[in-house]
Amino acid sequence: MAELAISGGRPVRTTPWPEWPVHDEREVEAITEVTRSGKWWRFAYASGVELNEDLSAKDLSKVVEFGMEFARHHDARYGIAMTNGTGTLEVALRALGIGPGDEVIVPAYTYVASATAVLQVNAVPIFVDVEGDTYNLDPALLEAAITDRTRAIMPVHFGGQSCDMDAILDIARRHGIAVVEDAAHGHGSEWRGRKVGALGDIGSFSFQASKNMTAGEGGIVLTNNRDLAEKCDSLLWAGRQKGRPWYEFHQLGWNYRMTEFQAAILLVQLERLAEQNARRMDNARYLAKLIADLPGLAPLRWDERATKHSFYLYVLRFDPAAFGGVPRSRFVDALIAEGVPAFTGYTFPVYANPMFLDHDFHGKGCPINCHHYGHTVDYAAYAHTCPVTERACYEESIWLEHRLFLGDHRDMENIAEALAKVSAHVAELA
Ligand SMILES: *Cc1c(COP(=O)(O)O)cnc(C)c1O
Repeated sequence: MAELAISGGRPVRTTPWPEWPVHDEREVEAITEVTRSGKWWRFAYASGVELNEDLSAKDLSKVVEFGMEFARHHDARYGIAMTNGTGTLEVALRALGIGPGDEVIVPAYTYVASATAVLQVNAVPIFVDVEGDTYNLDPALLEAAITDRTRAIMPVHFGGQSCDMDAILDIARRHGIAVVEDAAHGHGSEWRGRKVGALGDIGSFSFQASKNMTAGEGGIVLTNNRDLAEKCDSLLWAGRQKGRPWYEFHQLGWNYRMTEFQAAILLVQLERLAEQNARRMDNARYLAKLIADLPGLAPLRWDERATKHSFYLYVLRFDPAAFGGVPRSRFVDALIAEGVPAFTGYTFPVYANPMFLDHDFHGKGCPINCHHYGHTVDYAAYAHTCPVTERACYEESIWLEHRLFLGDHRDMENIAEALAKVSAHVAELA
């Protein structure tokens, strides 16, 4: 008789999981207040940069207030809120003056925006593999990827665990290149007691619907550098400059302005962040203990220097050899049938996406076949150069969303039970 739910057995879990986003009357009140006020956008070109130093002026704009509050929660001086976490990466690179002819090192295992932001400013993403047990940028591989064209390294704090920022900052300093953190997964995460986001020169967060704080969409840049903060604030205002006439534009910018509605919701979401992160960390620790003896399903290693971990994702490494060759997709389908939503994550390494294989970027071959670059890259030739990323994408990674970790230990016991059950009856999947 079939045991597994996928072949007709009884599922481990039939009750619902915590839902995301978490919200209550506070969000409703915040939205209502903005609606009634009639102030729906960041009405004054009151600079977040100035206001970061003058908390008394914060009633000018929710967007500016949120920028300050988020920065304060992340040990950063300046927070410049924008429309999304893709635009923030582009603005961060532009503010650093990165452009044609420049290279930026990004991990091969990340969401596409980490690399396409580089392309948007007409610079060239160079991919480096990640560590096998954290899926974070591997510092040991960085130096070999640095050339005289390298202008920045973009560590991505994958799943919410900080990269090894000691090693990355040290390498960047020695080579005189910038560090742009993609902290889209790292709300409230820490490296050795300091929040991620402004550990390097500039950092970026996303508030898209799946992220650990959300207004549906949104993003923010953090930095401790006043000059960079002012540049970002101008870039998101189409290149306006504070103190200059309204219709006078100084640099190539865009409209990346966040609305007052988004900021009002995010101010409430920020109030819950620390408690939610604490709950996710506690549950993640408990789950790791429960499944410690399950062969073939190792969670990513939690580096003790990552003192706070947002657990945007809880990632298991599936070893096909331990399951008699049953493919990961079958295992995941069986888990879902047991009532545990799981998925396999990024389909390809970033460089193996059609856009990269076809070099379908800007017109006339830019930026990779461009006289400013004076070189070229063939992203098709990256195949097999990042074995950890390829293994993660093609056979290994199983992702569990952070909302599953917002409940209690009983939920973790259900996840562990489902993993153990599918493992024990894996022959049914063959
Ligand atoms: C979500 C995400 C982004 C981009 O965020 P959006 O707000 O969706 O544009 C960037 N980098 C990583 C790693 C992400 O996961």
